[in-house]
Amino acid sequence: MTAYRILGTTDENTTCDHCGRKDLKHTVVFDIADAEGNPTGELFYAGSSCATTLPGLQHLSAATIRQRARSAQLAADVRAAQEREWAGEILAKYGPVEHRGAGLKSAVLFGYNPHGRERVTSVSGEVAGLLAEARRILGDAPAPVTLKTKELGRMTAGFMAAFLKRNPGYRF
Ligand SMILES: [Zn+2]
Repeated sequence: MTAYRILGTTDENTTCDHCGRKDLKHTVVFDIADAEGNPTGELFYAGSSCATTLPGLQHLSAATIRQRARSAQLAADVRAAQEREWAGEILAKYGPVEHRGAGLKSAVLFGYNPHGRERVTSVSGEVAGLLAEARRILGDAPAPVTLKTKELGRMTAGFMAAFLKRNPGYRF
């Protein structure tokens, strides 16, 4: 049986996939799971009264579905904001050494993660992976600039300066 899981609510898609009604104020967003309960990645939008007719949701009232959708959306928004914040911090930390040599990358990476040396096998791979993940999260959105990201930018500059002082002949 197809299962519908409430993901949130949106006013961007205002057409009900169940009955085709258009110009709804909001729709409830579902992801559709297959018979084994695994998400298919397919989204389904429905008005809250149509949602009460979907398999697995027929015991709920439209008001309850709307309320669950709002809570799920709030949680998703908080998660997304935290991810964007993390991504902004990663760019502030490692952006300045992205195209620099492994020595400077190590100085910055292990400046932030003094106990990382045992875990990290490739400094360049680690830094590239973090930056790629941060850019995936931000997509086309600009990286958030906050007091924290400014502070991290200053720390990165400090790690780089300390490294260059210890290695005066360092070539980039
Ligand atoms: Zn409908």
